[in-house]
Amino acid sequence: MEAGFKMFSYVQGWVDDLDGERSVDYEAALSARNEAYAPYSNFFMVGASLRMGNGRVFTGWNSETISYDGVHAEESARGRVDSASRLSGLKRVTIVGAPADESVCEPTAPCGACRQKLLELSCGADGVEVVMASVKGRVIIATLNDLLPFAFFPKDLLKK
Ligand SMILES: [Zn+2]
Repeated sequence: MEAGFKMFSYVQGWVDDLDGERSVDYEAALSARNEAYAPYSNFFMVGASLRMGNGRVFTGWNSETISYDGVHAEESARGRVDSASRLSGLKRVTIVGAPADESVCEPTAPCGACRQKLLELSCGADGVEVVMASVKGRVIIATLNDLLPFAFFPKDLLKK
């Protein structure tokens, strides 16, 4: 056996620093957050936007039920992606989460299950950008591959 090493890098800054397409995607996720419904878990109100390779942007938000199940924002957005956009592959996901009173300024990261679901949209491409933000405050940008190392891909099902 020998030791392996995987490098993980990211950039960080402030939501006000986002510009161009990243700013557009942030605003889309921020707007989607207005539809979030999370009265039971006391977790954040979360909005997400998915920018696809064909340029289309799909949004979603978290939504709970009294039985403590629900849909995460990334999952909600993923369900709205049409087939043509899905074939073009995921380019960037932007997540904006904060409590209803917006008192927390730390970035919201995708959960493990959502990382796998987003990977399915990547069509195996490297470099899908994950922008993790809050309504105000810090933002962290990483790649999906870095957030889910040694991932399980559809091609792994074909291994014998
Ligand atoms: Zn999730």
